[in-house]
Amino acid sequence: MSNFFDAKYATLKPYTPGEQQRGKKIVKLNTNESPYPPSLAVRQAVAKEAKNLNLYPDISGGMLFTELAKAFNVKRENVFAGNGSDEILAFIFQAFCPNGAAFADLTYGFYSVYANLYRVKTELIPLRDDFSLCAEDYIKKGKTIFIANPNAPTGLAITKDDVEKILLANRENLVVIDEAYVDFGAESSTSLLKKHKNLLVVGTFSKSRSLAGARLGYALGAKDIIEEMERVKYSFNPYNINQMTMAAGAAALQDKEYYKNCQNKIIETRDKTIESLKKLGFNCTKSQANFIFCSHKQCKAKYIYKSLKALGILVRWFDVSGIENYLRISVGSTKEMKSLLCALKQIVQEGKP
Ligand SMILES: *Cc1c(COP(=O)(O)O)cnc(C)c1O
Repeated sequence: MSNFFDAKYATLKPYTPGEQQRGKKIVKLNTNESPYPPSLAVRQAVAKEAKNLNLYPDISGGMLFTELAKAFNVKRENVFAGNGSDEILAFIFQAFCPNGAAFADLTYGFYSVYANLYRVKTELIPLRDDFSLCAEDYIKKGKTIFIANPNAPTGLAITKDDVEKILLANRENLVVIDEAYVDFGAESSTSLLKKHKNLLVVGTFSKSRSLAGARLGYALGAKDIIEEMERVKYSFNPYNINQMTMAAGAAALQDKEYYKNCQNKIIETRDKTIESLKKLGFNCTKSQANFIFCSHKQCKAKYIYKSLKALGILVRWFDVSGIENYLRISVGSTKEMKSLLCALKQIVQEGKP
């Protein structure tokens, strides 16, 4: 530690992102990106904005907010946007957890990283043995609740009815539903917003809208909550979203058909890959996300992870007790999944990397 670093940050535990190697030969299935590029309309919208980069971004958000409100059937006043949903989650941990936070013991890693950064007391709620999340475990928590739905890295989702149970059982507290993966088959909770003022739905363009590199997330909630989020943002970085990203987001929301088609392809590839993995001796959760969470009956996950890496295929292995024998594999293109299955066959059946 240098003499200049504030000691109160000495114990920071930063998030560990998946490896970001690039190159033609790498099959990258480790950070749940979309294998499909942004639509042509999105790329054109981005190119068009380049000429305006001498100006600060349009602080009103313009078309992006109009399109977000339209897409989720809410008013403009119910929409917030951030530099990735990670930034939005950071604002929530910073400013909306006066009594602490409660979330699953196995969920998106950034929740505990932000809790640690902002000194938010945390209650970890264990998932059941089959990794399912039970609404009954989330009654009267007295804290801000965070639920990734579908959950990461398990891929399992809860129903909208379960979300409503949790909202009703925690009326005095904010319930944050992180819908990063909702477009791959789970039920969205956005229709509950009109009825439940303690609900905040958070989403991202990184997964189902092929814009991980653009950094764009959104939050939907009651007007007063959104106003307070704006106050936090304006105290930190009023220009949190760049102009090209705003244009990309608006265009992506307009290009519904392209993205629906990509999402359907990913769902289909996921389900087919799960079937093939089962034949190779893997147990897989019933994932409703764009990744597969699986464990092999004989072969250790760490060995498979390393063997795949040696073959140029990146998947995610977590050195976390309880899931140390699991792999999280992002759903790529059909070609990428073919390479994956071919490599796995060699590794688990023939024992050679
Ligand atoms: C990927 C992910 C995010 C963050 O997405 P960005 O918008 O890229 O910051 C948030 N929550 C969950 C559960 C995720 O998996």
